[in-house]
Amino acid sequence: MQISPQFPQKQVFLASLLITTLFLSCEKKETELPSCDGVEWSYTGTEGPAEWEFLCTDYTTCGGERQSPVDISNAVPDNSLGSLQYNYQQTTLSLVNNGHTLQFNVAAGSSMEIDGQSYDLLQFHTHTHSEHTLNNQEFPMEFHFVHKNTATGDLAVIGVWVSAGAPNAFIADFVAELPMEEGETLQNGLSFFPNTLFPENLSYYSYEGSLTTPPCSEIVHWRVLKNSIQLSSDQIAAFMDLEHTNARPVQGLNGRSLLLFEE
Ligand SMILES: [Zn+2]
Repeated sequence: MQISPQFPQKQVFLASLLITTLFLSCEKKETELPSCDGVEWSYTGTEGPAEWEFLCTDYTTCGGERQSPVDISNAVPDNSLGSLQYNYQQTTLSLVNNGHTLQFNVAAGSSMEIDGQSYDLLQFHTHTHSEHTLNNQEFPMEFHFVHKNTATGDLAVIGVWVSAGAPNAFIADFVAELPMEEGETLQNGLSFFPNTLFPENLSYYSYEGSLTTPPCSEIVHWRVLKNSIQLSSDQIAAFMDLEHTNARPVQGLNGRSLLLFEE
């Protein structure tokens, strides 16, 4: 009588499957992430950008497929996007050093519009060097104007690149008083319109992406202006001395479309 060789093979297969499953579930337990309460992140070392997605449960999106910033090259012209629609009100300088960036808080009442939806301007802040790159070239600085759609929770962020050149008159009014310590705020009564920091021509690149800091939520309609503004080398150096490098490296586009609207 011939014994079918399949039977013992099947047993071995099932046993190894069981062992593998046990092993995998053990391994999964070992890599369970902590809650993000009190978890620190930074731009270097063991809490740096490559590690963000592994730091805690709410930061796993940092390893997602629709992340920001990205390199901007080969953008496809699409004039159906329409001009940048914003309505900014005058605000008073309130500049906070939050330990990650210098953040300009603005008074309520400024907004922009995308596809008939209104997004309120919450704040703008700085990165040194730039986060978005143009044909793999970085700029010394980038401003981010963060707007929120209160109905959907989506964000719209306008990125403005900075080139080294002529001194910027608005920045000159407070660059000597930048808040050097984390938690410090500068309020000197200076009144201004946030679009003071926009270039004249508002052509822009458009793509769908994320916050560039943890939790890296993929909820951002990006508008990166094609034209840069200028700050003098000394002005840029003042921000750099304070922020060092607070720029996340560029992330893969992963098939997302990158469009260009030209004024
Ligand atoms: Zn930013």
